[in-house]
Amino acid sequence: MAAPGENLRINSDRLWDSIMEMAKIGPGIAGGNNRQTVTDEDGEGRHLFKRWCDAAGLEMGVDEMGTMFARREGTDPSLPPVYVGSHLDTQPTGGKYDGVLGVLGGLEVVRSLNDLGIKTKHPIVVTNWTNEEGARFAPAMMASGVFAGVLDQADVYEHVDKDGKKFGEELERIGWKGTEKVGDRKIHAFFELHIEQGPILEDEGIDIGVVTHGQGLKWLQVTLTGKEAHTGSTPMPKRRNAGLGMARVIELVHEIAMDYQPDAVGAVGHMEVYPNSRNIIAGRTVFTIDIRSPEKEVLDAMDGRIREGIDTICEALDIQYKIEQVGHFDPVTFDKGCVKAIRDAAERLGYTHRNIVSGAGHDACWINRVAPTAMVMCPCVDGLSHNEAEEITKEWASAGADVLFHAVVETAVIVE
Ligand SMILES: [Zn+2]
Repeated sequence: MAAPGENLRINSDRLWDSIMEMAKIGPGIAGGNNRQTVTDEDGEGRHLFKRWCDAAGLEMGVDEMGTMFARREGTDPSLPPVYVGSHLDTQPTGGKYDGVLGVLGGLEVVRSLNDLGIKTKHPIVVTNWTNEEGARFAPAMMASGVFAGVLDQADVYEHVDKDGKKFGEELERIGWKGTEKVGDRKIHAFFELHIEQGPILEDEGIDIGVVTHGQGLKWLQVTLTGKEAHTGSTPMPKRRNAGLGMARVIELVHEIAMDYQPDAVGAVGHMEVYPNSRNIIAGRTVFTIDIRSPEKEVLDAMDGRIREGIDTICEALDIQYKIEQVGHFDPVTFDKGCVKAIRDAAERLGYTHRNIVSGAGHDACWINRVAPTAMVMCPCVDGLSHNEAEEITKEWASAGADVLFHAVVETAVIVE
C-alpha cells in the first residue's frame, strides 16, 4: 500500500493552534493580519516557523530569494523530494489563513508522520515561498516565479515599495537572504493546500476542491477616439461618440464571456472618459478589458472575438480604436497524477469533493511549469479573502490537511 490507511489523519488541534499562534505575529486592526513580505513581522513569522521545523527534526535550507525549505529526510536521500507548502506573507489587511494554511498544513503532514513513526522513500520538504502576495513589492508570486525561471532575480531585487525601499535590500535586512541558488532544487512533485477564496465549496457544502486548472487571463487596454462635441447642438447622425463605443464594448465583453460558461469570465473594470464633462460628447475613452478562462483555446477565442467586435462597433460609430495587451498569464493545467492523488485521498478519507478551477494566482501555478504540481482547496466563509474578516472552520482546515497528508505521503511512498 502506497498511502496511509483510511483512518490516518493529521492532528487537527495542533494544526489549528499553530495557525492561531502564527496569527499573533503582525496582527491587523480588525482580527486579521498585516505580515507583509520582508518586513520585521515577516522575519518574526519565519523564526517561529523555523523553530517548529527544528523541533520536528527538519533541516532548513534558504535560497537567495529567502524561500525556506524544511526537509524531512527520506530513506533514499538521493531521490528528489516531494515539496509541500505555500506562503506566510499576507496582504496589508489580510486574513489568518491565506497561505498560512498551506505552509502549516505541510508542517502538520511532517509532524503527523513523526507521531506515527512513518518513513517515506522520498524526502519531504515543507516550503514557505517569499512574497506570494505582491502587495508591498510587485509582482505577486515573486520567489516561485524566479524559481520557475519566469521572473529575473536581479530585476526583482531592484523592485521598490511605496517608501522606495528595495526588495533585495529588505530581504537582506531581515536576515533571510539565503545563499542557495534559486531554482536548483529538483522537485519530484509539489502540493499546495489553500483556502478557496471564492464561494463555490461553501455554497455547495463540499469539503474539498480538487484543483484541476488555474485560470489564465488577458488584460486588453482599449482607447477609443471619436470627437468632442456639444451634447445639445450636435445632430445625432453627426456624432462620433467614444462613450457609446465603450458602452457597446462592455456589453460585448459580457456577452462573449457568457458564451463560454461555466468557467470563463469577462468585464471592464477600469474606465476613463475624456473630457468627462456633462455637456460634451465623450471624444475619447480608455478602458481595460479583463478576460479569464482555464482553457487557452477559450481565452484566445474570446480575445479574437473581442477584437473583431471592437472593429465592427467602431466602424458603425465612425470612431478609431487602439488595443494594447497590458497583462497576460497563460492558463494552468495541473499534473494529472498529482490531481488524481488528491482526488483519491479525498475519496479514501470519505470527504465530499469536486473539481474546481483556481481563479487566483498561486505559487503552485508557477511551480507547475517545472515540476508535477497540484492544489487542494478548502472552503472559506462567504468566499471572502484578502480581507481581515477571512474565516474558515477548524473542520475545513483539517479536512484539507488530511487530504494533503494522504496525497503527499502517497507520492513520497511509505516504507513498510
Ligand atoms: Zn495565498
